[in-house]
Amino acid sequence: MSFPLASFLSTIGTAQLVAVSKFQSISAIEGLYAQGQRAFGESRAQELLDKVNILPKDIQWHFIGHLQTNKVRQVLPYLSYIHSIDSSKILLEVEAQARILDKKIKVLLEIKIAEEETKYGLTRADAHQICQNILPTLSHTEIVGVMGMASFTDKETQISAEFDALRIFFEELKQNYFANQVSFCELSMGMSGDYKLALASGSTMLRIGSLLFRE
Ligand SMILES: *Cc1c(COP(=O)(O)O)cnc(C)c1O
Repeated sequence: MSFPLASFLSTIGTAQLVAVSKFQSISAIEGLYAQGQRAFGESRAQELLDKVNILPKDIQWHFIGHLQTNKVRQVLPYLSYIHSIDSSKILLEVEAQARILDKKIKVLLEIKIAEEETKYGLTRADAHQICQNILPTLSHTEIVGVMGMASFTDKETQISAEFDALRIFFEELKQNYFANQVSFCELSMGMSGDYKLALASGSTMLRIGSLLFRE
C-alpha cells in the first residue's frame, strides 16, 4: 500500500508539501510521483545528482541540507529552491554561480530556532546582517522566506513556541526589508513529527520525509 497522498494533501490546506526523499529509493520516489507529487527535497549534493539523472525532468528539486560552497556549481542547475542558506558565504556563492548560469534561484534563510544547540543555521543578527548588506546586491538569488527546525522533543508547547518565534521573525524581516515584495512569503517549517504544530503556527512549506515513505 502506498502512502495516501491525496487524502494527506486535503489536510494541509494551502501549505506546499516538499516530499523529503533523502535515503529513499528511486522506486519509492516514483510511487509518490505517480500520485502527482512534484516537489521533492534532498539534503546531500551527491545523492541529489545521482537522482536527478534517473528521475523525471519535471520534478521540482528543493535543497534542504547544509550545502558546501564547493558543491554549489554542480547542484545549482537542478534546483528550484535552497531552504538552507546558513551563512553569508554560501549565499554569495549561490549568487555568483546563478549569475554564471544566468539562472534565478529562490532561497530561504535557515534560522536557528531550537533551544537545543544546533550545528547549522543563522542567528537572527546574522539574518539582519545579510538583509542589510547582501540583499541589495543580489540579482539572481531571490530570498523568499525563512526555514527552521524545532527542537527534537515531545514537548508540544516548546515546539509551538519555537515555530511561533520563527513566524514572528519572518514578519520582522518582511517589515524591515521586504515590505512591498509579495515574493517574500515562505515559512518552511514542519517535518513528519511536528507538521501539525507547524501548520497551526502558519507554515507555508512542509518538509516531510519518513511519514510519506513509511511502508
Ligand atoms: C530529513 C529532513 C526532513 C524530513 O524529516 P522527516 O522527519 O523524515 O519528515 C525535513 N527537513 C530537513 C532539513 C531534513 O534534513
